[in-house]
Amino acid sequence: MSALWIRHPLATFTANDQDAGNGIVVEDGVITELVPAGQHPEQPVDLNFDASEHVLLPGLVNTHHHFYQTLTRACPPALNKKLFPWLQTLYPIWAGLTPDALEAATELAMVELLLSGCTTVADHHYLFPDGLENAIDIQADVASRLGMRATLTRGSMSLSTDDGGLPPPHVVQDEHSILADSERLIRRYHRQDERGLLEVALAPCSPFSVTPDIMRASAELASRYNVNLHTHLAETEDENAFCLKQFGQRPLDYLASVGWLHDRTWLAHGIHFNDEEIARLGQAQTGVCHCPSSNMVLASGICRINELKAAGAPVGLGVDGSASNDHSNLMQEIRQALLIQRLRYQADEFTHEDALTLATRGSADILRRPDIGQIAVGKRADLALFKLDEPRFSGAHDPLAALVLCGASQADAVMIGGEWKVRDRQWLGGDLAALMARHREAARHLYAKATGH
Ligand SMILES: [Zn+2]
Repeated sequence: MSALWIRHPLATFTANDQDAGNGIVVEDGVITELVPAGQHPEQPVDLNFDASEHVLLPGLVNTHHHFYQTLTRACPPALNKKLFPWLQTLYPIWAGLTPDALEAATELAMVELLLSGCTTVADHHYLFPDGLENAIDIQADVASRLGMRATLTRGSMSLSTDDGGLPPPHVVQDEHSILADSERLIRRYHRQDERGLLEVALAPCSPFSVTPDIMRASAELASRYNVNLHTHLAETEDENAFCLKQFGQRPLDYLASVGWLHDRTWLAHGIHFNDEEIARLGQAQTGVCHCPSSNMVLASGICRINELKAAGAPVGLGVDGSASNDHSNLMQEIRQALLIQRLRYQADEFTHEDALTLATRGSADILRRPDIGQIAVGKRADLALFKLDEPRFSGAHDPLAALVLCGASQADAVMIGGEWKVRDRQWLGGDLAALMARHREAARHLYAKATGH
């Protein structure tokens, strides 16, 4: 294998305290050397990448999404609604999801993320209408084809309106089907290759769409196979009220009662926790995925990131599904995190580097992936390089701060495991125009099927 020196970057964010001021060396899919400012590699190198116009970051890690929702972006009946009515409006549309549409949505969302500098994705897929029983297999095929790292979470819904839940009966599954498929998927896909591309986690959708039994059984299964658990929690005050009414408990007490309060669990949103609950999350080292755009669009609230981190809970970043964001651009989401957290904290209490850390090291921590999320020797060579050559950056002084403050959105080059996936802002793995045409048609068809328009 050849050793590649990515040399002379404008700036490097390592997500740790190490110096890679003069770049890094990559060999055999991993980072083998950090080159301090003013120095040259100690090891022989045979290839060079001139990064003198680039800011170098660890590949970004997205820890919450619903890829299928790219088919219902800016969807008229769901506009300007808060979470519960928004969900109730969309469930009947989503119920028409087909294998082809999910395949197109998964690929479109992953490529959209990739172009924004993202190298690892976690998708929360919980829709398995008739004919789409193999949804996660479809996603695994796409992820393998693209060569992106993916944590595919086998979601589930089992509590319909018939039993006091939120989703309609035709989009929920019985518990036996959910658990049998969950075990099959873990055995088939979880950490099956040395390149570390695919992982599986179990992800009952939310307190208001699954039964306590499926929460408990999922936790037991995850424990048996040492895989992670994921769900939505503490997203809205409506959810608090629902949990108190349905279970007689606040969401975190409910989570603890079904065996989920530990370090293999990460939670999407985590907004409405009180001080005592934050202390318990920290003690358990349960992860939280901050989803700022979604929280703003649905008027859900602001995650208490600094208190969670101070308590010991790892915090990462996610774009959330594309019906509530409605983009899948993780670099833009870093800027959103900075802006929304400045409404909660003083300006010096949440910095642009804190925002970048969420999407790199923080996200890797909540997925329990010590091999990614930082630039350090031995980490996988997952990298995102951004140029500052657009009008929005003109006149910027600090290159790293400019990425966040001026609003970078498109990576110039992206590498996963030592392989270039994006160069000159172009996806190297396929025909983007053809993918978008296929995806647009799938979106049009899904919407027409439910609404007649
Ligand atoms: Zn979500």
